[in-house]
Amino acid sequence: MARVAFIGLGNMGGGMAANLAKAGHDVRAFDLSPEALERAKKAGCLPAANAAEAIAGAEAIVTMLPAGRHVEALYAETLLDHAEAGAILIDCSTIDVATARRVAEAATQRGLLAVDAPVSGGIAAATAGTLTFMVGGAVTAFARAEPFLEDMGKAVIHAGASGAGQAAKICNNMILGATMVATCEAFALAEKLGLDEQRFFDIASVSSGQSWSMTSYCPVPGVGPETPADRDYQGGFAAPLMLKDLKLALEAAASVGAQVPMGERAEQLYAAFVAGEGAGLDFSGIIKTLR
Ligand code: NAD
Repeated sequence: MARVAFIGLGNMGGGMAANLAKAGHDVRAFDLSPEALERAKKAGCLPAANAAEAIAGAEAIVTMLPAGRHVEALYAETLLDHAEAGAILIDCSTIDVATARRVAEAATQRGLLAVDAPVSGGIAAATAGTLTFMVGGAVTAFARAEPFLEDMGKAVIHAGASGAGQAAKICNNMILGATMVATCEAFALAEKLGLDEQRFFDIASVSSGQSWSMTSYCPVPGVGPETPADRDYQGGFAAPLMLKDLKLALEAAASVGAQVPMGERAEQLYAAFVAGEGAGLDFSGIIKTLR
């Protein structure tokens, strides 16, 4: 078992750090929030007074932070200068591809190993240890990160070179955003055409309109498996996080001149939803604006 530093103990990181501790690692945890630190302590981690203290002597340093600017600042201010020689830096935050590549390159120049390892699966999967990790980085860096990620997830996939994990994440979530909107508008239309919702689900979920958004995360209450729709769109994957990922996808698309018309439309619809009642709802709640 290894000494592992974990920085960013929020909704996702709290459960992930707890799973590393449960797997027997000596987890030194740090978060700017004293409440988050307290929760990590209860989950078996050793709280540190600051990031430098958390990473001292750590073989692996995991970060789970809100956005690229937080990751870049932490790397520049602390990680790059204080990480143990040969340590593996594993950033699990969802951030832009360019920042992911920049911080990994800076780490490599200091003789450290680094991967971007964003996740699929929400808070429940982080707590249960059933996340999917999509990993970008050199083969040697992936090999070092893999056992730690396996302690927090059900699947760990090497996506390619540095930044490829973030690319996979935002492309995946662009599909998710667009298919959720398409599923919602189809249910709204079916209803207006007099189709029974359950009957439409029974047909479309075994026909060519099927998607994860329909069969695993149906936006209609009482139809399909239990989803946030059955809890008045509370919990689940918050609409502002979907908007964040769509914005990252559009930014990445612009940087390489890719055409993403469905992604653009999904981003516009989620921006309007989040500006209104969607700010505190699950992303499938966008059906409320389409009915
Ligand atoms: P969160 O806001 O709950 O947690 C982030 C934590 O980072 C907070 O506790 C904050 O205090 C801490 N933090 C910020 N700057 C820090 C610093 N410099 N040093 C130490 N701690 C610092 O966010 P979350 O929901 O846990 O999401 C984390 C990342 O995971 C995001 O990039 C998000 O896009 C991604 N993600 C979230 C979900 C989800 O369902 N919540 C799903 C997949 C991916």
